[in-house]
Amino acid sequence: MEKIILTGDRPTGRLHLGHYVGSLKRRVELQNSGEYDKIFIMIADAQALTDNADNPEKVRQNIVEVALDYLSVGLDPAKSTLFIQSMVPELTELTFYYANLVTVSRLQRNPTVKSEIQMRNFETSIPVGFFTYPISQAADITAFKATTVPVGEDQMPMLEQCQEIVRKFNSVYDEALVEPKILLPENDACLRLPGTDGKAKMSKSLGNAIYLADDEKELKNKVMSMYTDPDHIRVEDPGKVEGNAVFTYLDAFSKPEDFEEFLPDYKNLDELKDHYKRGGLGDVKVKKFLIKILEKELAPIRARRKQWEQNIQGVYEILKKGSEVAEAVAAQTLADVKAAMKINYFDDGALIREQMEKYGNK
Ligand code: ATP
Ligand code: MG
Repeated sequence: MEKIILTGDRPTGRLHLGHYVGSLKRRVELQNSGEYDKIFIMIADAQALTDNADNPEKVRQNIVEVALDYLSVGLDPAKSTLFIQSMVPELTELTFYYANLVTVSRLQRNPTVKSEIQMRNFETSIPVGFFTYPISQAADITAFKATTVPVGEDQMPMLEQCQEIVRKFNSVYDEALVEPKILLPENDACLRLPGTDGKAKMSKSLGNAIYLADDEKELKNKVMSMYTDPDHIRVEDPGKVEGNAVFTYLDAFSKPEDFEEFLPDYKNLDELKDHYKRGGLGDVKVKKFLIKILEKELAPIRARRKQWEQNIQGVYEILKKGSEVAEAVAAQTLADVKAAMKINYFDDGALIREQMEKYGNK
C-alpha cells in the first residue's frame, strides 16, 4: 500500500511555535525522509469559515500567510502538494455523503469540538457548519487515501471520528476508503504547547502565541514577559518547573548541544531544572537561554520567509498548481466512493439492463 500523508492548517492567522513543534517540523522531516509516496498539505479555508462566518476577510488574507510559513519552514512544493481546501470541491461532496454515517450525539461527544464551542462562546447558537467540521475533516483525509496524519494532540478526537466513518462506510458499502493513523509528536511537551501566558494551548485565537514570522525583538519581548512560576518571586526562592511555560518550551526546543553553546555552567536540562527547583536561579537567566535557542531555530525560517515575501505571485502559483493536483486525486476517490455506494448510475450497466428487462425493453 502507498504511504500517503495529509495534514493542514486553518488560515486564521500566521503559524506559531505550537504548529511548529506539533506538526510542521515533523512534516518537513517526513517530507525529506523520502519514505512517503505522496504528501498533501492543505490550507483549510473552508473549515476556517465554519467559525469565521462574520470575518471572511480574515481567512482570505491569511491564506498567503500560511503558505509563506509553509515555505519558510522548508515544505518544498517539488516534494509536497500544497493546496487550498475550497479549490477541491469534491471534498464537499464527500462530506455530504459521510454526514449520513454520523449521529448528532456522536458529534456532541467530540471533546475538541466541545471545548472549541466553549472557547468561541457558541453554546447557545452553534453554526451547523462548525458543528459538523469533523465530518468534513474526515473527507479531507480520506479523499487523499491518507495513511498518516501528523498533527497535535487536539486532533486525536478528529482522527478517531474519521476512522469510525471509514469503518462504517467500508462495511455499509464496498471497501473504498483507507483508514488513517495519527502521528503525534514524540516529545510530550510538543503534544500541546502551552501559550506564553501559561494557558493550556498556544493558539492563534487566544493571543498567546510566538509566531514563526516574529522578528528578533518581538521574540525577546514575548519570552521576557512569559508566564513562569508566580511563587518564584526572589532569585533565591525555590521554583516550580511543572506548569512553568519557560521550562515546557525548553523541554520542547532545547538540545544537549545548546547547553555547551549558550549555558556551559549546566550539562543538561535536568541540571538546570534542579537548580531552579532548589532556588538561586532567576527567571531572567532561563529566559535569556530560551531566547538564544529559539532565535537559532527561527532565524533561518525568518530569512527564508523574507525571500518568499518577495515572490507572492510565485506563492499563489504554487497553490494553484497544488490545488489542481489535489483535485485530480480527490476526483478519483469521489468516483470510487460513488461506485461503492452504487450512485454512479450512468456507468452502472447492470442497473440499466435490469430496469430495461423489468419493462420488457429489447
Ligand atoms: P485556531 O485557533 O484557528 O483553531 P490553531 O492555532 O488551533 O488555530 P489549527 O490550524 O487549528 O491551529 O491547527 C493546525 C495544526 O497545529 C494541528 O495539527 C494542531 O494539532 C497543531 N497545533 C495547533 N496548536 C498547537 C499547539 N499549541 N501545540 C501543538 N500542536 C498544535
Ligand atoms: Mg485549532
